[in-house]
Amino acid sequence: MSEARKDFSDDRTFLIDLTRCTGCRGCQVACKQWNQLEAEKTTFFSGQGYHNPPAMSQHTFTMIKFRDYEKNGQNEFHFYKEMCMHCNDPACVSVCPVFALHKSPEGPVFYDDKRCIGCRFCMVACPFGVPKYEWNKAFPLVRKCTGCYSRVKEGMVPACAKTCPSAIRYGSRKEMIAEAKRRMAARPEVYFNKIYGLEEAGGTSVLYLSAEPFNELGFREVTYRPIPEYTWQALRYVPGIFVTAAGSLTFISWLSHRKERIAREAEERKKQDEGSSGGEK
Ligand code: SF4
Ligand code: SF4
Ligand code: SF4
Repeated sequence: MSEARKDFSDDRTFLIDLTRCTGCRGCQVACKQWNQLEAEKTTFFSGQGYHNPPAMSQHTFTMIKFRDYEKNGQNEFHFYKEMCMHCNDPACVSVCPVFALHKSPEGPVFYDDKRCIGCRFCMVACPFGVPKYEWNKAFPLVRKCTGCYSRVKEGMVPACAKTCPSAIRYGSRKEMIAEAKRRMAARPEVYFNKIYGLEEAGGTSVLYLSAEPFNELGFREVTYRPIPEYTWQALRYVPGIFVTAAGSLTFISWLSHRKERIAREAEERKKQDEGSSGGEK
């Protein structure tokens, strides 16, 4: 359900300045390292941008996209860091039936994988196409960028922002908005006059600056209204029988996941107990 919080000015926020991104992919590597995400086998990708892997996945929470274009008869290019936008009023949170996703008071939208039942409502609701599914697992869950909440709540900066040598700043939303406006006013000839994320989906904790119109770089055009306003309006028209059936399936799925997890945890505890009693001998 959409949260009542209205003031997001102190939320920890990324300011990603695409004019300063060199495409080094330090953020991509730091994210993998901090989150202990598997490497992905890559193959030649000749689609838009030639980047690899071709898209975010359960193993890649952030990636640098490459976009080339023609301007004044010249070939130009831009890099674009794609990640969860950590929306002020997140659609993924609003549709999750078991409260596996949370908007933290600090800003990051994180998930509790012990609660997730793999229903994938969040994947359908997210306007930015962020949550991914572990298709290759027997008991798949949803994965996405956590905003490095475990670091942020201890007063640290997310791994990707810490590593970036040039393009990412991290601070309160009001400071990052002021900094973005300062840069645009100082060099109007460089920047396209828009902060992406200021109003998109009701505002986000990731803000972008660019030299080019965002739609030309492949950014999604999303409504300025918070998405939960739509999701709850839409759900009003869903027939009760569908909600009941979906709810029952969801509950059965959650029960079977829970049973499996409890058995797995009991097995792990047993192994740990055996290991520690062996050490005391
Ligand atoms: S971008 Fe998508 S996954 Fe991230 S907080 Fe917003 S709705 Fe949720
Ligand atoms: S897939 Fe998991 S996180 Fe997403 S809506 Fe369903 S339970 Fe919530
Ligand atoms: S905030 Fe953390 S999880 Fe998200 S992209 Fe950056 S390093 Fe990865």
